[in-house]
Amino acid sequence: MLTSPFEPVIGLEIHCQLLTASKIFCGCSTTFGAAPNVNVCPVCLGLPGALPVLNRRAVEYAVRAAHALGCAVQPVSIFARKNYFYADLPKGYQISQYDRPLATQGAVEFPTPGGPRRVGITRVHMEEDAGKSLHEGFPDSDRRSYLDFNRSGVPLIEIVTEPDLRSAADAADFFARLRAILVAIGVNDGNMEEGSLRCDANVSVRPSGQQALGVKTELKNLNSFRHVQRALEYEIARQIEVVSGGGAVDHETRLWDANAGRTVTMRGKEEAHDYRYFPEPDLPPLTLEPAWIDEIRRQLPELPDAQRRRFIEQYALPEYDASVLTTSRALAAYFEATAAASGNAKASSNWVMGALTARMNDLGIAIEDVPLKPEALAGLIRLIDAGKISGPVTRDVFDKMFTSGRTAEQIVEREGLSRIDDQQAIESAIQSVVDANPKAVAEFRAGKQQIYGFLVGQVMKRTAGRADARLVNEELKRQLGG
Ligand SMILES: [Zn+2]
Repeated sequence: MLTSPFEPVIGLEIHCQLLTASKIFCGCSTTFGAAPNVNVCPVCLGLPGALPVLNRRAVEYAVRAAHALGCAVQPVSIFARKNYFYADLPKGYQISQYDRPLATQGAVEFPTPGGPRRVGITRVHMEEDAGKSLHEGFPDSDRRSYLDFNRSGVPLIEIVTEPDLRSAADAADFFARLRAILVAIGVNDGNMEEGSLRCDANVSVRPSGQQALGVKTELKNLNSFRHVQRALEYEIARQIEVVSGGGAVDHETRLWDANAGRTVTMRGKEEAHDYRYFPEPDLPPLTLEPAWIDEIRRQLPELPDAQRRRFIEQYALPEYDASVLTTSRALAAYFEATAAASGNAKASSNWVMGALTARMNDLGIAIEDVPLKPEALAGLIRLIDAGKISGPVTRDVFDKMFTSGRTAEQIVEREGLSRIDDQQAIESAIQSVVDANPKAVAEFRAGKQQIYGFLVGQVMKRTAGRADARLVNEELKRQLGG
C-alpha cells in the first residue's frame, strides 16, 4: 500500500442550535423563517440597560448534549463577554463561555473501515447566536446590507474536538455521527440548510511520523457533510503542495467556496481578533445541582452507537445495515416497527435501505413524510415469505402500495399479481415461447447455451414476472430436451 509522506491533522468546531422555543437570554421566539426583525426585544437587540435572564431549558439541552458526548459537566461554569464589533452584533460583544466552559473531556467513538476511531471532545460551551447580515437579494444590495435580528440570542452550544481526525472522509463521517447524536437526543433539528448546525475545521499537515503539529488553517462555512469532505480534501492537498515545495503554510482563516471548489483566504493571523474576554457582569456563575446533572444523564435516550450495536445483536443484522439504519432515529424506528410486524428483520432492513430509501431520494422526502406505514411494508414482506408473490412483482407491488395507500394483499388480489405456480399455466406459457422463437430454440439445441437465459426471460415476460422461477426452469429444460 502506498502511504503519503504527509499526515493531515484535523479538529472540528461545531455550532449547534438548541431546540428551545425561546431565546437564551430573553423570551423571544426562535422560530425559523419569520418575517425579519419580528422576534426581537431590547435584550436580543442589545439595547442599553437590558438585562439577560438565562433560559433553563437551554441549559438542560446543553447538559444533555454534553452527557451524550461523554463529557464531564462542570457544576460551575462562567459566562463571558467575547468582544468584537460587527453590524449584526449590536451589543459589541457576544455572551459566550471562555476559560470555564459548561463541559469538558468527552469522546465519541465510531467504526471506520480502518477500525474504530475515537475523537476527543475538548469542550462544550454555551453561547448566544448573532444576528444575520443580508448582503444579497435586495434591489440596492450593491450599495446596502440589511440586518435581521431574529437569530440574535438564539441558544447555541459550541462543540470543540481534539485534533484526532486524520482524513477528510473521517471528518465528514464524524460530523454526520455527531449530527445523528444531537438529533437523537432531541436538542437539535439537524437542519444544516437553515444553519442550525454549522461546522468549521482546523487542519494542518505534518510529515508522517512527526509528532510536532504543522501550521494550521481554519476553514469556515462548511455547511454540509459533502462540503466538509471536499473543503478538507482541497485544503490538505494545497498545504501538502506548499510544504513539499519548501514553503510555509500561513496561519489564517480560509473560506470554502463551494462553487469554485476551493478555499480562499478570509483573513490572516495579523487580522485575528483579540476578543478581550472577561466574565459577564450581568449573569451570575452558572451553578448546577449535581442531582439535576445526574437526572438529565439518566433520562438520555439510547444513543445511535448503542442502537447500532443492539441492532447487530438483537436482529442479527450485518454491521453495514445497522450502521445505515441508525443514522436517524426515525429511520431506526421505522425499521424496528417493520421488523416487529413482519417477523423478518433482514428482509425489513433490505426493503428500508433499498426500495424505500430510493423512493425517498427520488421524492426528496424524509422518513417522517413517507406515506407507507411500517405495518403495510411488513404485509408485503409476509406475502413474499409465504411464497404468495416473488421476483420483479414484489417491487411493483411496493410501488403501488407507496402511491395508493392500499395493502399488499389488496393489490395482489385485485390485480391478479400472485405468483403463478400452476403447472399447466407455466407449461402453456413455455409452449408459446418455444413456438414463437423457433430460431432461438434451434440454436440452443445446437449447443448455444447462452440462449437459455433469453428464453427464460421471454417466459417471465409473458407471465409479467409472476411465474415461479423454479417451475419455469424445470419445465423449460424438459421441453427443450435439455
Ligand atoms: Zn429578545
